[in-house]
Amino acid sequence: MNPVIALVGRPNVGKSTLFNRLTRSRDALVADFPGLTRDRKYGNGALGDKTYTVIDTGGISGDEDGIDAAMAEQSLLAIDEADIVLFMVDARAGLIAADEAIANHLRVNQKKTWLVVNKTDGLEEHSAMADFWQLGLGDPHSIAAAHGRNVTALIDEVLAPFPEREENAAPADISNGIRIGVIGRPNVGKSTLVNRLLGEERVVVFDEAGTTRDAIEIPFERRGKPYVLVDTAGVRRRKNVREIAEKFSIIKTLDAIKECHVAIMVLDARSGLVEQDLHLLDYVLTSGRALVLAVNKWDGLEAEAKDKMRAEIKRRLGFADYAELHFISALHGTAVGDLYPSIDRAFASANSHWSTNRLTSILQDAVSEHQPPLVHGRRIKLRMAHQGGSNPPIIVVHGNQTASLPDAYKRYLTNTFRKVLKVRGTPMRFEFRSGK
Ligand code: GDP
Ligand code: GDP
Repeated sequence: MNPVIALVGRPNVGKSTLFNRLTRSRDALVADFPGLTRDRKYGNGALGDKTYTVIDTGGISGDEDGIDAAMAEQSLLAIDEADIVLFMVDARAGLIAADEAIANHLRVNQKKTWLVVNKTDGLEEHSAMADFWQLGLGDPHSIAAAHGRNVTALIDEVLAPFPEREENAAPADISNGIRIGVIGRPNVGKSTLVNRLLGEERVVVFDEAGTTRDAIEIPFERRGKPYVLVDTAGVRRRKNVREIAEKFSIIKTLDAIKECHVAIMVLDARSGLVEQDLHLLDYVLTSGRALVLAVNKWDGLEAEAKDKMRAEIKRRLGFADYAELHFISALHGTAVGDLYPSIDRAFASANSHWSTNRLTSILQDAVSEHQPPLVHGRRIKLRMAHQGGSNPPIIVVHGNQTASLPDAYKRYLTNTFRKVLKVRGTPMRFEFRSGK
């Protein structure tokens, strides 16, 4: 699992600026959903051979109530679960009461907390830092997020105890079968589905993992074929009936996504789609993981409600239309078995290998069907394509002036490759390179 870095601090100290700087490298990849823009609160980044996940906790100002308090609650949960907490303060504003209030929250997590003084550009460093010693959170580290000053050194230092790892790599181990992760917001029916998938009697048979973030693995078989169910808060929760409301944990969800080969994202037909569903789906997309969508609680719904849900999915989940869609009832077991062929297909698609010849010939057919546009009087040329990786599949297209390829044309190519290669259930990524 990537180490998780949580950015904490009151509004305006520079969290999003640092967040953008730390996650910027990802934009090098053209995902196959141009047009998908939404505020990101989480992102992945890399420094040298190390990768990490960053969460902008956003929500704390130090004196919240009402809705703010609920948001702050989510932020505090993220702080608890993160491996590294960067507590940001603003050198220009100096130390203010809200900083002290947040510092009080952080004191229990002092060991992993780094005090980061931002906006020190153009200031005399010693005096800019002096105030912040009082917070009692150790040495203040001076940065200027907007200019990148000291940022690399800081991240290098905070990541020092963590091993090198390949970004987002799906687990290599398939000897025990395809690893399935069941994700979704609270109450959509994850544990009910997990129990269905496993058969009731198996659920009690597992060891409590060492730490809260270790994944639980439950091997099982279906029709002689092995699978492994990874984590799911749902299974764990059953152990303690008195633990009432499950706090929704983004970090645990990210871990579950990372630990599986195929994610089953559960939606709730009764409550419809909500913002949190879209955010979660966004996490799956950026992680590149194979995906199956299960719309649960389909039992006993009026035709009208069904139509409404279908329309809503079509309208709002268009960006995830690569995923196979199932309408199920985890409670009654209806259509749950149908998930397996989709899981198998998504896994196979994600791990496909295609020859350069095959990909180049698909590219050439696509190009002769629809020429790329002219740029400054010269036609964009696309010459060859090869596979740059799998899980998710990466197709690298070589040509001239590829930086000028319009999104619409990229979309056309993406769709063509997907259709011809019959890729279902996994995102695909495309890189366009110019030159030889
Ligand atoms: P957030 O509310 O904590 O996410 O803060 P933002 O990242 O939105 O930054 C708030 C303001 O501070 C913006 O106007 C940034 O341009 C500015 N800012 C961020 N980092 C620096 C910095 O290193 N130096 C200076 N001078 N300004 C910065
Ligand atoms: P989780 O928080 O996502 O693990 O959700 P649970 O599995 O605990 O389910 C939440 C509630 O939804 C429980 O009361 C379940 O009985 C109910 N539920 C789960 N699946 C279904 C379903 O397919 N149909 C209906 N009607 N209710 C369901």
